Amino acid sequence: MGKVVVFGSFVVDLMARSPHLPVPGETVKGSMFKMGPGGKGFNQCVAAHKAGADVVMVTKLGKDSFANVATDTMDELRMPKDGLFFTEETETGIALILVDENTSQNEIIIVPGACNTITDAEVDSIEERIKESEYVLLQLEVNQDANERVVDMVNRYGCKVIVNTAPYSQISDEFLSKVYMVTPNEVEAEELTGVHVEDLESAHKAAEYFYEKGVEKVIITLGSRGVFVSSDGKEEIVPAFKVDAVDTTGAGDAFNGGLLAALSKGKDIWEAVRFANGLAALSVQKLGTTPSMPKLEEIEAFLEEHK
Ligand code: ADP
Repeated sequence: MGKVVVFGSFVVDLMARSPHLPVPGETVKGSMFKMGPGGKGFNQCVAAHKAGADVVMVTKLGKDSFANVATDTMDELRMPKDGLFFTEETETGIALILVDENTSQNEIIIVPGACNTITDAEVDSIEERIKESEYVLLQLEVNQDANERVVDMVNRYGCKVIVNTAPYSQISDEFLSKVYMVTPNEVEAEELTGVHVEDLESAHKAAEYFYEKGVEKVIITLGSRGVFVSSDGKEEIVPAFKVDAVDTTGAGDAFNGGLLAALSKGKDIWEAVRFANGLAALSVQKLGTTPSMPKLEEIEAFLEEHK
């Protein structure tokens, strides 16, 4: 099994439910509050770790009590903590999530905080780990200059970069040209390529955009419809597993973590997508993000059952 790295965000999710969402100036009495680990990078790393990957989380935390939410979770799950950076200058990132308990509509403010201040020196300090890794998975939730520095480093060592282009933000052609694989969801795919992805033909067009920029493999996740995969001239929409979803937040994170774990074990892209699909299908059947990520045994049993 190869070593892999997730380089990305950590934020503490602060979620409150209330009978309706406040309008400007209004204070609403809520009915429930929950706090837990979040951030796309962290969620994806937890998914990969629980799925059996030899993975290190690289992110940056403040020196405050919210940082403990990350480190306590990592201790509990026995995840290595040597990829964590700390700063006294910025708070640990947070996401304020307001949920209307009647309509399930939400409003979210994310303040990436410390993980948006990753320095060149910090990126340079992970060189040894990058050197021995096969894949590095990034998202677009930390300061992009750090992502760019990671990509340059990765390319020096024959390691491959997977970019989950979430949340959408503009990325340069130069950055894309150094990326091995992209994994947008259908909304991000449209934002990046201008192509509305709804079937094999339109997905092919979106993939062409990425190929022109120099990307080698394209995956577009399509929610409950499954995943578009384009690799070595073969293109297909792999259907999602049919399950009763109760909470699809973090489905993309589950999928990306699963993909990374499977690739690190030497599976080809098609097998890896099947594994990631299975992991994501299990995760949407449970509430929460990191707690809903299944363990390797559960994923294997699920895939065995659904042959
Ligand atoms: P995101 O969370 O980034 O919007 P998607 O909604 O595209 O990502 O979901 C990512 C993957 O999770 C899908 O490609 C699929 O494998 C799985 N998934 C999402 N929703 C469901 C569902 N309702 N049933 C089964 N699998 C799902």
